[in-house]
Amino acid sequence: MTAPLLEVQGLRVEFPTRHGTLLALDNVSFDIAPGEVLGVVGESGAGKSVTGAAIIGLLDPPGRIAGGEIRLAGRRIDNLPPEQMRQVRGREVGAIFQDPLTSLNPLYTVGRQLIETIEAHLPLSRSEARERAIDLLRQTGIPAPEARIDQYPHQFSGGMRQRVVIALALAANPKLIVADEPTTALDVSIQAQIIGLLKTLCKEQGAAVMLVTHDMGVIAETCDRVAVMYAGRVAEIGPVQSVIHQPAHPYTAGLMGAIPAMDEDRERLLQIDGAMPRLNAIPSGCAFHPRCERAMPQCHEQRPELMLSGNSRAACWLHAEAGVQR
Ligand code: SF4
Repeated sequence: MTAPLLEVQGLRVEFPTRHGTLLALDNVSFDIAPGEVLGVVGESGAGKSVTGAAIIGLLDPPGRIAGGEIRLAGRRIDNLPPEQMRQVRGREVGAIFQDPLTSLNPLYTVGRQLIETIEAHLPLSRSEARERAIDLLRQTGIPAPEARIDQYPHQFSGGMRQRVVIALALAANPKLIVADEPTTALDVSIQAQIIGLLKTLCKEQGAAVMLVTHDMGVIAETCDRVAVMYAGRVAEIGPVQSVIHQPAHPYTAGLMGAIPAMDEDRERLLQIDGAMPRLNAIPSGCAFHPRCERAMPQCHEQRPELMLSGNSRAACWLHAEAGVQR
């Protein structure tokens, strides 16, 4: 078995406030293999973006990692000093956010931004770095890259800007790309192109991808495995086809609008009543129990860890007989 590229173990993220400490992530664990695309899905507030931000070392203050470990290619990165983490972020981990303008400086040409990133992380001369920048723009589908390299971000459309951001994220040949809702701000017609491009380029470079999205369509099209998050925890994780067609956790089943195969009488969960709990009011036991049609008495008191169910693992007492798995 290939060693994981990214290992997240027992990750705990807290946001201290005047009214107490909010627990945004609680004991989140997963890994990503080299070249693999892991989707992280859930409703707003589930903790998926916080997970991405913790991995790239860009948690919004006052958020802090309060427990657990993050390892990249075996090296622990959650406790690095800011300057070393900046190096990791440019060289080993690329980031793509929803709004391309977060990643691009409006005052510099896209070429300058690409060339500076390449020069900072790869041993190339200025002219070699410019060649690589043009090449990256070409690979990401920017027409006439020799001319467009000297233009400013505002001279590109939204879809083209996101292509530039992908080029920037890939500039230093990173091992891992963390992409947080990379296409949400774009036209539907452009979304599939950008996601397809991201996947192809990462496969070509052998880079692993963590794709954060609320869009199950994007997950189904793109990912090898998927982690479903709920209230700051992983509710279910497994191969994408298993999770979509045989969801093991009632929340996943509701999210898919699917028929849960684990259910003998094939009761249909058409929708999930209620809303994701606020961080200051996470229910005891299974955090999903107030919304779960299948909740049992123990669900109110005891928190389920991930348990084996078919090819997936789900944090749900319905699978207790299979035993708890890490
Ligand atoms: Fe529902 Fe209980 Fe499973 Fe939670 S542990 S998802 S409440 S059945």
